[in-house]
Amino acid sequence: MESKLTLAIQKSGRLSEGSIEMLKLCGIKVSNGTNHLKAVAEGFPLEVLLLRDDDIPQYVADGVADIGILGMNEVLEKKKPISVVKQLGFSKCRLSVAVPKDVTYTGREFLNGKRIATSYPEILKDFLADNNIDAEIHCISGSVEITPGIGLADAIFEIVSSGGTLLSNGLTEVDIIMRSEAVLVANSNLSQDKINLINKLIFRIESVQRAKSNKYILLNAPENRLTDIVNLIPGMKSPTILPLAMEGWCSLHSVISEVDFWNVIDKLKDAGAEGILVVPIEKMVI
Ligand code: ATP
Ligand code: ZN
Repeated sequence: MESKLTLAIQKSGRLSEGSIEMLKLCGIKVSNGTNHLKAVAEGFPLEVLLLRDDDIPQYVADGVADIGILGMNEVLEKKKPISVVKQLGFSKCRLSVAVPKDVTYTGREFLNGKRIATSYPEILKDFLADNNIDAEIHCISGSVEITPGIGLADAIFEIVSSGGTLLSNGLTEVDIIMRSEAVLVANSNLSQDKINLINKLIFRIESVQRAKSNKYILLNAPENRLTDIVNLIPGMKSPTILPLAMEGWCSLHSVISEVDFWNVIDKLKDAGAEGILVVPIEKMVI
């Protein structure tokens, strides 16, 4: 029987859209009746389970799902024996300490003897132990940000992305403890068939990630300045050079990282490049 992977993703929340979008870019269409626990995927031997993100580590550890997509923060909080096999680059956030804005945070020792509210008690416990801090952990599952205002805590340890929620509760972020992003996790005891399928999936993910950070560049160059222009484009081994109908000019095509592009654009123009086009790449397979 041909093997198939079972993938657990978040049913609805801050990871859902990114997960579905990433699969789509990998050529995998998830038709989700989001009211259901299961969804069908086209374009890859995959069955999709739609779950609460908190439950994904357990499902993957138990082998009910072979792989899952969730935030690194949940992986660290749940401490299940699962493997992180790929960083996915979306749903980025940070876990930070925040205190009321009129309080002076003197450094981590400030937290000694304080009451800290969090929905990440395990990560907080590890952090306090690593820093030799003795504090009281108040484990709260939602609206952690309101606890200092109502006198329940002196500080909070929580996820921050834009900081808007902190601000509206009169809090300031004073210490970033860890950064998180979505990751692909896998059960640690899979058959070779399933491992092969995961590697195929990772190959697709990497092609998409590579394409995202690179651009296809086309420009017109006077033939007598060609060497200068080629030398300006970093990492370009062998650009495609095509003659133009206009005598003495050619067209040059290559792939360049977006960061490099912004660094060399002015120099390219000074070197005589014209008609510069930068276009997105959908997939980049190497
Ligand atoms: P569920 O109902 O599935 O349990 P949830 O309320 O626990 O959902 P979400 O708020 O949807 O979870 O967040 C899911 C994950 O998205 C977080 O664990 C974290 O990795 C990431 N994330 C990114 N930005 C934020 C943010 N601003 N606030 C909370 N989580 C964020
Ligand atoms: Zn959750």
